Amino acid sequence: MSMSALFGTYARSELSFERGEGMRLFDQNGVAYLDFHSGIAVNALGHGDAHLVAALKGAAEKVWHTSNVFTIPEQERLAQRLVDATFAEAVFFTNSGAEALECAIKTARHYFFAKGEPERFEIIAFTGSFHGRTMGTIAAGGNPSYLEGFGPAMPGFKHVAPGDLAAVEAAITPQTCAILIETVQGEGGVTAMTNEFMQGLRALCDKHGMLLVLDEVQCGYGRTGRFFAFEWSGITPDIVAVAKAIGGGFPLGACLAKGDVAASMVPGTHGSTYGGNPLATAVGNAVLDRILAPGFLDQVNQMGQKLAWHLQQLAQRFPDFVVEQRGKGLLAGIKITPPVRDFVARLRDDHKLLAIGAGDNVLRLLPPLIVSEADIEEAIEKIAAAFTAIEAETASVPAVD
Ligand SMILES: *Cc1c(COP(=O)(O)O)cnc(C)c1O
Repeated sequence: MSMSALFGTYARSELSFERGEGMRLFDQNGVAYLDFHSGIAVNALGHGDAHLVAALKGAAEKVWHTSNVFTIPEQERLAQRLVDATFAEAVFFTNSGAEALECAIKTARHYFFAKGEPERFEIIAFTGSFHGRTMGTIAAGGNPSYLEGFGPAMPGFKHVAPGDLAAVEAAITPQTCAILIETVQGEGGVTAMTNEFMQGLRALCDKHGMLLVLDEVQCGYGRTGRFFAFEWSGITPDIVAVAKAIGGGFPLGACLAKGDVAASMVPGTHGSTYGGNPLATAVGNAVLDRILAPGFLDQVNQMGQKLAWHLQQLAQRFPDFVVEQRGKGLLAGIKITPPVRDFVARLRDDHKLLAIGAGDNVLRLLPPLIVSEADIEEAIEKIAAAFTAIEAETASVPAVD
């Protein structure tokens, strides 16, 4: 690794990319990489999408930035379109996923404060979750390795195992204000919540007068073949955090809420200098044009099913390598036996496939939502080739006793 002036917070590869086109990224030597990483579920429309490029160029010729103390027409328009297309009645724009979660957490707590119940600030969250890297969201995530060394964790979060409704109910106290969950856990190991569990959480929230807050930063915005992953369970949440795909690569996030839930967030309660600025929301509108276009989500849904089917075939072909199949739609994963960090590097270096690891030694596949079946078959063959290469290497090593 060469010397870098950057914080050492990432174990970076030296690989860098010069340009991108659709499903592919190209390095300085023109070598093409098939992208099943999407900058961690961000490049929903792949690379170099003409409609997005035009939107950003058009916006760049106008006003780059004003302030949220002025009206930003593209921001108003994006918010209204999200309201028209979803459960939400109000939107707050941010620059990132963690900030969308911060807004969600503040909104949930403030809702009860404004109702005269300030003692209700506790949020039930889940083990294996990931909500971001701010002080608030590492507390919400509860992952000890992300909390260690950063002083006292922000209080007000309890963690229970996902899937266990009885444990959730047992954790509810008079202080509980909300349940916070990723509909499909991404980072933690690509674990999809069942429809029954989501419905059970909604019922618990209704029974105890709590808010249901969903983190769909990774699984939302089309990735599972519906606009939001929670739609598969037929429930309606109170607050949803989104980011990643919403800007297609331009930093943008949003906190979406029911109108009564957002009502107490009046001037002075929250803010963001950049959140929803003209450049970001011009691109956000262009992304939404594509995702809401007739047939787009049906196609994503079909490709999600194809990917699941091909992964199932792969698992049958390599039972010694594939332990379990996980995920939903184009947020797919396989728990594998080789260490996933090395395997991701091998896929990248030897097979020119970009994928990503997740917790529990899961190989995570997050292609752009424009992926075709031919791309899926190509990716599967690259993974198969990597397994075959490991087999060959293992076979050629003389047994040691
Ligand atoms: C990536 C992610 C976040 C944090 O988003 P940032 O933009 O990195 O702050 C939060 N929740 C989930 C589920 C994520 O995948």
